[in-house]
Amino acid sequence: MSESNANDSKPSDSNPVPAPLMASHFIRDIIIEDQKTGKNGGRVLTRFPPEPNGYLHVGHAKSIHLNFGLAREFGGRCNLRFDDTNPEKEETEYVESIIADVKWLGGDFGGSIFYASDYFQQLYDWAAQLIRDGKAYVCDLTPDQVRQQRGTLTEPGQESPYRNRSAEENLGLFARMRAGEFPDGSRTLRAKIDMASKNLNLRDPIMYRILHAEHHRTGNAWPIYPMYDYAHGQSDSIEGITHSICTLEFEDHRPLYDWFVEQLGIHHPQQIEFDRLNLTYTMMSKRKLLKLVQDKYVNGWDDPRMPTISGMRRRGYTPEALRNFCSKLGVSKTAGTTELALLEYCVREDLNKRALRVMGVLYPLRVVIDNYPEDLVEQMEAVNNPEDAGAGTRTVPFSKVLYIERDDFREDPPKQFFRLSPGREVRLRYGYFITCTGVVKDAAGEVIEVHCTYDPATRGGNAPDGRKVKSTIHWVSADHAIDSEVRLYETLFTKEDPNDVHEGHDFTDNLNPQSLTVITAKLEPSLAGAAPGSRYQFERMGYFTVDKGSTAANLAFNRTVTLKDTWAKIEQKMPDQKKPEKKPK
Ligand code: ATP
Ligand code: MG
Repeated sequence: MSESNANDSKPSDSNPVPAPLMASHFIRDIIIEDQKTGKNGGRVLTRFPPEPNGYLHVGHAKSIHLNFGLAREFGGRCNLRFDDTNPEKEETEYVESIIADVKWLGGDFGGSIFYASDYFQQLYDWAAQLIRDGKAYVCDLTPDQVRQQRGTLTEPGQESPYRNRSAEENLGLFARMRAGEFPDGSRTLRAKIDMASKNLNLRDPIMYRILHAEHHRTGNAWPIYPMYDYAHGQSDSIEGITHSICTLEFEDHRPLYDWFVEQLGIHHPQQIEFDRLNLTYTMMSKRKLLKLVQDKYVNGWDDPRMPTISGMRRRGYTPEALRNFCSKLGVSKTAGTTELALLEYCVREDLNKRALRVMGVLYPLRVVIDNYPEDLVEQMEAVNNPEDAGAGTRTVPFSKVLYIERDDFREDPPKQFFRLSPGREVRLRYGYFITCTGVVKDAAGEVIEVHCTYDPATRGGNAPDGRKVKSTIHWVSADHAIDSEVRLYETLFTKEDPNDVHEGHDFTDNLNPQSLTVITAKLEPSLAGAAPGSRYQFERMGYFTVDKGSTAANLAFNRTVTLKDTWAKIEQKMPDQKKPEKKPK
């Protein structure tokens, strides 16, 4: 997806720059060693293998950054491969979104995309080879029965009564499975390994199941589908993958993947496991994210509250910010949880450099400057980005009636409150010093208008006599302001661990009822034609991004992130938040 980002002076989204390399880690060390010893002829071929059963999330960003980053660093390639072996859960919409997200993040897969479904015939032929070699058999137990007879960690499994069928009989039955002669679930093809193995994955695992389901690419050509555990390693092998990098939960599956390639005598990729990203207040299970979408807890996969890449993009995160975040993550063998505050810090750090400053009032309070001429409108000069001198200046209209932030006024100010209050003088950013002289209240006693006087000698925000004020507040001219829908976000979940629930409840109990607040804000007129995807800093209020589909007549902003940095505080409290990396055996 390409965006027009009129105000981005840094590299645009469609032309990503190489990410900074991650801090060194054990996988890098393995590759360096392999290149030294000449393993794989010094070749580095990694892959990113999503199942197209949902949109990519920020955890996938870590894997993308790692796999594509290593390939780039070591002069290799990284394949984008869809592990599409599960027709019931997979859709073309997901394939398309994944391609767009990988591209947006800067993953360079050279235009070629791989699909496990392209290997169905080869996988089938290899299964037949294993049958001929006496290494696989057709089992007439249902998948449920297979599971029941699998045993436990302390007890061996039971051998299937069909385990010792002849190769000939097995080949015949497997061919009939393939021909679609048997109903769903009536038989499976199983690897013949060891029902007493300590590793449950080696207890005659299912390689194929019968499933008369239409596949998004192969249609109805196949009534049998390979299991992930059979398809994955062989897909890696077919592509000549050298380093097959996956998350820790696949460690126990590695002996099975090794077994298949060894029995088949084919290229043996090296599998290396690392810790998946977990983030506080964030959930990444695709099954649960799908539930949020289907049951309408959120407005689609790209809802800006979602931890999906498309949600983050819509919210205004940049690929650079996400890549920087991934660079700061460790890669290790120990599972941990990363603070959401670190991600937000990276977003803020990036937007600080590129976002133009503007003024917008989220919760408006009318201010009338009694001694300002009725019809006068002055154009005040304002700096576009103090971090970027090249960004220039613009003018902002000033007039007798303004809006300021409701929170910037208190009739009875507490001790530490230095903003506007009766008798108090403050600076209007790029405007004048004003002093509050009185208020107007509604019938309920609420302040609905504040009256002030201004000092004409303070134009631009400085007093010639050198007197100081304790605060500077932002404002917009009431007659010139444009109304815009603005969406403010909090975390989607109230708990650091959204899965922390009482028995009988589920994660939806932890949804934050305040995760979305929609308001109508008053914005300075320069924002009138702001293009979807443009990012701004509303001074003092945070970074905001124009929503997709937003038009001049229907302007809508998403708050990308507030200005309050909580990461610095967390970092101080626990300087070694990242556990030391444990070297794998
Ligand atoms: P599911 O939730 O359906 O189990 P998954 O998160 O494992 O899915 P895949 O599509 O299989 O999703 O993932 C593609 C790749 O991304 C895999 O190599 C996987 O290891 C990696 N990956 C997935 N989640 C994370 C995560 N949180 N952190 C790092 N890598 C991840
Ligand atoms: Mg998976």
